[in-house]
Formats: sequence, C-alpha cells, structure tokens
Amino acid sequence: MSAGEPGQAARVTAGVTFAARLAFENVSHEFSPGTPALHGVSLTAEPGEVLCLLGPSGSGKTTLLRIAAGIEMQTGGRLLLNEREIAGPNVFVPPEKRSVGLVFQDFALFPHMTILDNVRFGLTALSREEARKEAMISLARVGLERYAHSYPHSLSGGEQQRVALARAIAPRPAVLLMDEPFSGLDSRLKDSVRAETLSILRHSRATAIVVTHDAEEAMRMGDRIALLKGGRLVQAGTAHELYERPADLFAAGFFSELNVFEGRVAGGRVETPLGGFAAPGLADGVRATVAIRLSGFDVSQTHGQTPARVLSRRFLGVVELVELAVPGMEQPVRARIRCGALSGSAREIWLTVRQTDVLVFERTGESA
Ligand code: ADP
Ligand code: MG
Repeated sequence: MSAGEPGQAARVTAGVTFAARLAFENVSHEFSPGTPALHGVSLTAEPGEVLCLLGPSGSGKTTLLRIAAGIEMQTGGRLLLNEREIAGPNVFVPPEKRSVGLVFQDFALFPHMTILDNVRFGLTALSREEARKEAMISLARVGLERYAHSYPHSLSGGEQQRVALARAIAPRPAVLLMDEPFSGLDSRLKDSVRAETLSILRHSRATAIVVTHDAEEAMRMGDRIALLKGGRLVQAGTAHELYERPADLFAAGFFSELNVFEGRVAGGRVETPLGGFAAPGLADGVRATVAIRLSGFDVSQTHGQTPARVLSRRFLGVVELVELAVPGMEQPVRARIRCGALSGSAREIWLTVRQTDVLVFERTGESA
C-alpha cells in the first residue's frame, strides 16, 4: 500500500470501538500472604477517557494493569467492564475474552516476525486475509503501513512503539492498557510519540489506562490522573484538581518541588520564617506542614515581605533556580524565578510568597 489516499482514509475510520467503562471495586492483591501490593483500590476509567495511573516505582501500577488485563487475578475485590463483572470472587473472564489491549513497557515485538505479522498476531478470530486487512488498517492508523514487510530491528524506538500500539488496537479493544509506554524512548522522541499516541487513542475511542511515574507526562496525557502510593489510591482527579488541591504532602510533592516548613496552628494560622499562612480546616494546636512551591515567589531588589540573601543561582533557560538564606532558617529556601527578574549582581533581596502556591496540611509524620 502506498502512503496516499487509502492510508489517509483508513486512518480516520479504522479501529472504531464502543467506549467502555472499566471499574476497579475495592481491589486488593497479595502476591504472597501478608505482603499486600494493592490495598482496596476503587477507581473507574470512564468511557473514552485517558486515565493515567501515576506513582513512584513499586506503588502497584503494573499490578493494577495486569489485573485489568486478566494476567493476574486479584485476591480481593471486583472488576467490572460496563457493569458486567469480569473478575471477582466467583468470576474470572480470561484475558482473550475481555476486549482489552495491552502495550508493554519494552514493546515486546517478536524480532523474527515482520511488522505485519506482529500486528496480525492477536487477530486469531479472523481468516488470514481478513486479519491481514485489519492489520494493515491498524498500521495505517499509526502511519507505518510502508513498513509492513520490514522487521522490528530496522525501525526506530518511536516506530517500534507505534507498531506495539497498532498491534494492541488491531482487535479493536474496548479498553487499552499501556504500561510506561514512552519510558524506552529518548527525550527528544517522547514529545512527538506521546502526542501521536494521544491522537490515535482519541480516534480509536477506546478507554485507555496509561501508566507513568512522571507527573508531567500524566498531566500531558491524562483526562484524569489516579495517584498511587504503596498500593493505595491517594487521589484521583483532573490535573488541575491534583495540582491545585493535592490530598496530602505526598501528592503535592509529586506535582511540584516544594519548600517545606513545620509549625503549629494558632488562631487559624501557621507561622513560618516566610510569614504566617492560613490553615483552613485545621484546629488550633494541630501540628501542620506548610509547603511552598519553588515557583511561588516574587523577588525584588527594593521591596517585599521577607529579606533574603542570594546564596547561589543556577541558570535553567527560561527560569533560574535560586538558593536563598532567610533569617531564622537553617536550610536555604529554594525559588524558581524567571530569568532576568534579578540583576546579575543582586545579593540582598526581598521575597514575597504567592498565596496560590502555599499548601497547608496536617502533619502526619510522613515526609514528601
Ligand atoms: P509499579 O509498577 O508501580 O512499579 P508493581 O505493581 O510492579 O509497581 O509492584 C507493586 C509491588 O508488588 C512491589 O512491592 C513489587 O515488589 C511487588 N510485586 C510486583 N510483582 C510481583 C511478583 N510477581 N511477585 C511478588 N511481588 C511482586
Ligand atoms: Mg511498573
């Protein structure tokens, strides 16, 4: 097939599926008794949305994905696809009957098979000729039909990732699961492959769950984000919700670098060396943590709230990272400021904290 009209048309119309709702209901998992990997996770991927599972290494992201795919059977809770139970105490629908596609972190292409055969691999229900046609449509969707007869090793990392995506969407799954699909790509490729993948997901209308440990990637890709820590769901919501109203210090720290202060609530406020901040919802006497984003400072050489002395400056392009000594503080305060906001010779300056970049939490004994 040439890269002309047929490919273009196929790209728009192929792989359309009915969007599904996938719900995890109080899902728990123990690989061995007494060592839980998931603790009662309840979470729903809504029809047609891209839900990003975000969390540090070991937080249970892959386990949750494998349970959704049916490669792993959870030890507690249920899984529902469009309100139908597909895994639970008395039910287990096998992977091939779930209408679920899976893209692995390392793409997992078969090296000895052509690109076409790799994509055709999962289309076992179709005749050979039908499978070939569907596989070509799927390859056209990711813009790679010209490589149908090549082998994986002759393709770049980004192209291999798209082949893996073509293979996953070829059977027109209702739900597409992707485990850190961009982590194997170098950073220059990532942006374009991510954007391309998102556009393919939109066109396929599949519900997608994309795993990542990178908050920025989750914000770029996800209609909603579910943040996991230690096998527990910390918070689920839009990027705005998680960034602006993080549930705890961990969630806040996952989305922005923070300066952290500790204090006690008095008169509805917490005092810090950078001033007093309102502690809404916290009773007087409660131990509190005040987190200020590095991006939350205005700097001036003539006026401001708090005097500070410049200790070091690191040029990062659009912004610079400044370390500042503030009276009453042992640790330096770190600020991310626009380049040019301070003259090169600035030493004694003034800081003003922007209220929207201040987050106050009850102290739980955990660190960020
Ligand atoms: P993530 O994908 O977020 O890095 P995983 O889901 O791979 O996390 O792992 C969650 C927890 O489960 C970790 O503590 C990990 O060591 C454990 N785990 C994962 N797979 C297995 C396995 N096959 N056997 C035993 N423990 C496992
Ligand atoms: Mg993982």
